[in-house]
Amino acid sequence: MAFDYDLYVIGGGSGGVRAARVAAATGAKVALAEEYRMGGTCVIRGCVPKKLMVFASTYPGQVAEAQAYGWDAQIGDFNWDHFSGKLNAELDRLEGVYRKLLGGSDVEIHDGRAVIKDPHTVTVNGIDYTAKHILVATGGHPVSPDMPNAHLGLSSNDIFKMDKLPKSVLIIGGGYIACEFACILHGLGVKVTQYYRGAQILRGFDDEARGLLAESMTHRGIDLHLGTNIVEMAPADADHSPVPVGDDAVGKQSSAPTHYTGPIWVKSTNGAEETFDHVVFATGRAPNTDGLGLEAAGVKTDRRGAIVVDDYSQTNIPSIYAIGDVTGRVELTPVAIREGMAFVETVFNGNPTKVDHDLIPSAVFTQPELGTVGLTEEQAREIEPIDVYCTSFKPMQQAFAGGEERVLMKLIVSQETRKVLGCHIVADHAGELIQMVGIAVKNGLTKEQFDATCAVHPTMSEELVTMKTPMRSA
Ligand code: NDP
Repeated sequence: MAFDYDLYVIGGGSGGVRAARVAAATGAKVALAEEYRMGGTCVIRGCVPKKLMVFASTYPGQVAEAQAYGWDAQIGDFNWDHFSGKLNAELDRLEGVYRKLLGGSDVEIHDGRAVIKDPHTVTVNGIDYTAKHILVATGGHPVSPDMPNAHLGLSSNDIFKMDKLPKSVLIIGGGYIACEFACILHGLGVKVTQYYRGAQILRGFDDEARGLLAESMTHRGIDLHLGTNIVEMAPADADHSPVPVGDDAVGKQSSAPTHYTGPIWVKSTNGAEETFDHVVFATGRAPNTDGLGLEAAGVKTDRRGAIVVDDYSQTNIPSIYAIGDVTGRVELTPVAIREGMAFVETVFNGNPTKVDHDLIPSAVFTQPELGTVGLTEEQAREIEPIDVYCTSFKPMQQAFAGGEERVLMKLIVSQETRKVLGCHIVADHAGELIQMVGIAVKNGLTKEQFDATCAVHPTMSEELVTMKTPMRSA
């Protein structure tokens, strides 16, 4: 059977765009559909705008430190209009770059929502297109708790589109997004309160790192409440009854702000009642699989709605593959890109390639940052006997300025093989550091090989090659 395309990609995020371009480079005829803006979560409403906000939010701290070093420096006010205007222009530019890259790779772009009609057919804007292979790369979206008036809250998507900077926010959640936005908004001068329902933020990360980061965030002025959740919310000036959901608040995929923008009254599990300019739900993300036609094509999804795939990103329907957040594996941009490349290698280069999801370094862009790769102390202890090398100290730059904050450098080492099984860093620029340590850990280097590397002095990270004695063994 002759198909219109060799590959039809649904979703113009990082994974979909890379897969489309690389497949087209093999000579395949490729089309890609995107219903919103090219670039997806990472470029349009995730990593990129978030990181630019991180940069913006660090200047007050830097100026305060400059004063301690003798500079007569004043920070002044933050101009949200100026920043968000530049941010939007930058996102437009990046979207243009993505479109140009696709065009330059001879990938046909279809602007519209694609629905799978059968294992080889996709419908976009009322037109059926057939393809030998379909790749679903539709990503995910933020979810709010199921409670009355939850639609009055903002998601991470909405933060980039705020008309003005609020004076106060309540952030719900203790994951990556909650902690990053708590630090960003605090740095921009917003009074930040954060409720996390569990005992410590960032569940799944190394306990010692989580503890130190929570301490630092609190020390900087974030009002962090552990073991606390929201139980009720309503417009502050009303009688606290449920507010109907407006058309513009349904399906937050396009980041439509809610129709209500006034202050919000909140009641928490500890009985406290407070009013905030905004409530931000950072309570997790769900895969974008609703209404995609997966049922019609017979594609299996799991309990969360994520597409079930094998090691090669193939679904139970042989012609349909899926990559990135929609598969609910590891929700990180570089992983989606790798999954896309492995898919092309497998399907278009005849070289079956599994995606390697082992030892992926990552960073939480809080202030300070948390960089991590490999096993936490808690995970490693369950697997084999370990030595834990760690140190926590006041870094030179902040200590000179009279800062109280400490950094953490921690290595988890196998007693048997001496391999470094995990590394956890809480420090400014931990994201940059963990990228480098990740190379060593991924390649199975031992603690002794770390130590054979000469220290760079004076740096914070020299501790990673100079810790001689384990702090503890388990
Ligand atoms: P996470 O799953 O990391 O965090 C969700 C948080 O919300 C958890 O603290 C969870 O609590 C809490 N939560 C869930 N449901 C409720 C509820 N009903 N009431 C109160 N709290 C609730 O999701 P994120 O959205 O922060 O991030 C999603 C993914 O995106 C991350 O896992 C990561 O892979 C990726 N990401 C990566 C970034 C980076 O690399 N820097 C930045 C941002 C996102 P509990 O722990 O108890 O379940």
